[in-house]
Amino acid sequence: MKPVNPNILTINGGSSSIKFALFEFGDSLQRVRSGVIDRIGFPDATLHVKGVTPADNVSRAIVASDHTSDHASNHTKAVEIFMDWLEEHCGRDALTAVGHRIVHGGPTYSQPQRITPEMLEELRRISPFDPEHLPQEIRLAEALHHRFPDLPQIACFDTAFHHDLPRVAQILPIPRRYEAQGVRRYGFHGLSYAFLMEELAHLDGTAAAQGRVILAHLGNGASLAAVHHGKPVDTSMGFTPIAGVPMSTRSGDLDPGLLGYLARTEHMSVAQFNEMVHFQSGLLGISETSGDIRDLLDREQQDVRAAEAIALFCYQVKKWIGAFSAALGGVDTLVFAGGIGENSPIVRSRICSGLGFLEIELNEEKNMLNADVISLKTSRVSVRVIPTNEALTIAKSMCHVLNLR
Ligand code: ADP
Repeated sequence: MKPVNPNILTINGGSSSIKFALFEFGDSLQRVRSGVIDRIGFPDATLHVKGVTPADNVSRAIVASDHTSDHASNHTKAVEIFMDWLEEHCGRDALTAVGHRIVHGGPTYSQPQRITPEMLEELRRISPFDPEHLPQEIRLAEALHHRFPDLPQIACFDTAFHHDLPRVAQILPIPRRYEAQGVRRYGFHGLSYAFLMEELAHLDGTAAAQGRVILAHLGNGASLAAVHHGKPVDTSMGFTPIAGVPMSTRSGDLDPGLLGYLARTEHMSVAQFNEMVHFQSGLLGISETSGDIRDLLDREQQDVRAAEAIALFCYQVKKWIGAFSAALGGVDTLVFAGGIGENSPIVRSRICSGLGFLEIELNEEKNMLNADVISLKTSRVSVRVIPTNEALTIAKSMCHVLNLR
């Protein structure tokens, strides 16, 4: 089917930001605009749009009309402003479809598919799986449907990549009955991992992509995945995206005994614990200053807390690389992606130091340049930096679902 209008929009709706990208498709998919509404819930929330030329660029402050500090109404306002921009710049009829990154597909959904009222109902039902993301994602899809009722919307699930993890990597060691409710290891960052695997095959050939691959998506949210024969073997995140390595403000893995200890000694509630492990932990928690690795690198010489936060992050990522090498029976390719993975040579270098026993050896000159391949020629393991592109994975899936190309 040839579309009437060659524009599709991808949306990644988080709790404090909405990222989006507009693609035109002809012979290939071309990103013509990208944007973000960031700092939703703060007085300085802003819409930023970047186009092909500077004239297309937009920055617009978002002021909650009712001057409320309520996060949900701020989010609704941000969505309205985003839809106004969409209407102004694309027109009501100019879009062929919208594709959403949906963080959690639960036990029911893995394949990209059209959003229906039944799907939204099921996502609402499983919202307790991921209360930090799913309610906002549902609201966003509903708001778009309300404003553009004829516009097809496609859901692309961040859990999909890991859907067929081996049983041993899926099962959580708690009473078996919970599995029937869908409590298992799901894994996240799947849209990024799908892109990275496709790109690895493109850059280094199918044989490399079929080998033993460790993918490290290191951004504000961070996780690793082990892949062999192109199939998922294990991943560091779990039932929710708080698990695994420490992140910007998320704790990563913790001793389960901690909740009981804090409840007994500080009368900490589940809601307070949840707030702590999502928003006050990780790099921010340890450094007490920032969850942004650039800030911490800037002050690590003067501030031991910043130095310890970075050291813990690098140590934990290194440990997961070791664990996944064991799971895979060795490693052939290690890929760094995400804001930190793509841009921070010093962090990559610290992660890889001491991994010579796995035959992971960096070429520090190439590493400093964020080159495509950053390992030594003599290193048996090929270490790569691949800029990830989750929006493109969504756009491609949309074309597939809607049979657009
Ligand atoms: P998100 O998970 O929100 O998409 P990103 O992938 O944008 O996060 O990653 C954000 C992280 O990347 C931050 O810790 C930031 O400091 C880091 N980062 C971004 N650019 C650079 C850079 N040039 N050098 C070092 N770190 C960077």
